[in-house]
Amino acid sequence: MRRMPLKEEKDDFIDNASEIQKGKLNEKQASFPFDIPDFETLLKKQGYALAGRHSAVKTCLWLRHAMNDQGFCYKSKFYGVQSHRCLQMTPTLMCNQRCLFCWRPTEVPVPAPEEWDSPEKIVEESIACQRKLITGFGGSPNAIKERWIESREPNNVAISLSGEPTFYPYLPELIKEYEKRGFTTFLVTNGTNPEMLAKVSPSQLYMSLDAPDLKTYLKVCQPRSAALWEKVNESLSQMKQKNSRTVIRTTLVKGENMFKPEGYAELIKKASPDFVEIKAYMHLGFSRLRLDRSSMPAHAEVLEFSQALAKYLGYEIADESEISRVVLLSKDGKKSPVKKIPSLD
Ligand code: SF4
Repeated sequence: MRRMPLKEEKDDFIDNASEIQKGKLNEKQASFPFDIPDFETLLKKQGYALAGRHSAVKTCLWLRHAMNDQGFCYKSKFYGVQSHRCLQMTPTLMCNQRCLFCWRPTEVPVPAPEEWDSPEKIVEESIACQRKLITGFGGSPNAIKERWIESREPNNVAISLSGEPTFYPYLPELIKEYEKRGFTTFLVTNGTNPEMLAKVSPSQLYMSLDAPDLKTYLKVCQPRSAALWEKVNESLSQMKQKNSRTVIRTTLVKGENMFKPEGYAELIKKASPDFVEIKAYMHLGFSRLRLDRSSMPAHAEVLEFSQALAKYLGYEIADESEISRVVLLSKDGKKSPVKKIPSLD
């Protein structure tokens, strides 16, 4: 049987989580026009399916597009992921940042679980949820039949839906469990937990870097504590040591963090990632209550910023997707499909 958290580990965690909750509503945020009184309503409003007690699954727009023969997402173009077989999930919706551009209602408290589900249970439940969420495509005249059949066997997991996945204490085991089932694994972290970062080995490890300096970080990412900037910097150095393929991802918000490419370059150099993804903020979900539509940069602006960054970094443009307003940089200007990394057991 899986070991549940030691009492001290759990207490530490709950302390952190309730700190997130205590600091949650300042005056401005409390006046937001939210109609979301609790966690359950939050899940429903955002179209999530709860997988077990604290994990969630949501199909992405591109899964639907792929199924209806309307194209694949940029992760397909850049890394060979089949959008209709991609399972988007998170093992926890809690987070220690409140990024301005986040699509979730960062102002709504997410309760810390009393007990953690095992990785086996989360994997089982998340696959079951995905199958349930895509049931409707089976009878749809617009869906490609073969894709629908394939989509019932997801083969890539994007652990990145919402919330900070490194809060789940069994994240390394969860990744291994997906890989045992034949999945490639994408993990996205905000970089505030370098201790967990040191332990995980997904096929592709993403870290968000959304500020070129501390001042911008505090404004754009609104971390629980300014000390988390140090953790972000530790994580950047940690990335350099990883066996996984590594990606630094930056979400550009016009007027907020879309400046100082040289500052980003200095930070990214610490991580020496395989890839850098520069992506436009998208005016969606609850971010619409914090940012104006004009905060979304056009693709040409993302490209221009990426070119400046590439110059400072010594990287090259490897690809771009205009529809998703994202540019991919790599050290040699090449890209390649994601593969599972050999087990480190
Ligand atoms: S780190 Fe991710 S989940 Fe947390 S607030 Fe920022 S965008 Fe949202």
